[in-house]
Amino acid sequence: MLKLTDSELGEISNFKTSGVFTDIKSNEIQCRRTNIVVSCGDGDQIGNILKHHHKLHENGHGSCIHGITVNGGALWLSGSFKPLRAPQTFICPVLHDQISESLTIKGAGPIVLYAHAPCGAVRARDMTIGDTLHHLRLAKLNVKKSDNGRKVLCFIHIDWGEQKGKKSYFVDWQRLGRETLSEFSLPVEAHPEIMAI
Ligand SMILES: [Zn+2]
Repeated sequence: MLKLTDSELGEISNFKTSGVFTDIKSNEIQCRRTNIVVSCGDGDQIGNILKHHHKLHENGHGSCIHGITVNGGALWLSGSFKPLRAPQTFICPVLHDQISESLTIKGAGPIVLYAHAPCGAVRARDMTIGDTLHHLRLAKLNVKKSDNGRKVLCFIHIDWGEQKGKKSYFVDWQRLGRETLSEFSLPVEAHPEIMAI
């Protein structure tokens, strides 16, 4: 099982301190409706991710979680998550199609985009936690573009290790300023609209 590196721990601690990663409140996930959850399928984490999300539902009257999983999860929806083998990726449009189909099957609900750390798919692309957040933010932007009225939430699941356990956090984009974003691999100037979500 992967463990967080010192560098990743430092980044995560900074995002917690600055309020970018905050505790999830049940009312934020619209518990009475189906949540379409897009997540990495990492076998060491997916059980806990869904268990935690389900617990949030229990606190808020209970509802349905409809999962869509693929290595790297919601990060593919950024449109710029690098494929490792195929010269051309089809995963992003397929995921958009899967979200649309899920909404048809299960009814209108919020779409919840998950990242997690440590993530093997992220490590395989030499990405930092900051890079992960930037892809997650672009993913939200792209999903909002394809279905403007839909509520889209972003969470990150952290495996702190054996001592501290695992926990999911709400990602508060308002707390992530332009200065912080400019340190990441994708320039803010190329995507001015991401500051608005
Ligand atoms: Zn992963």
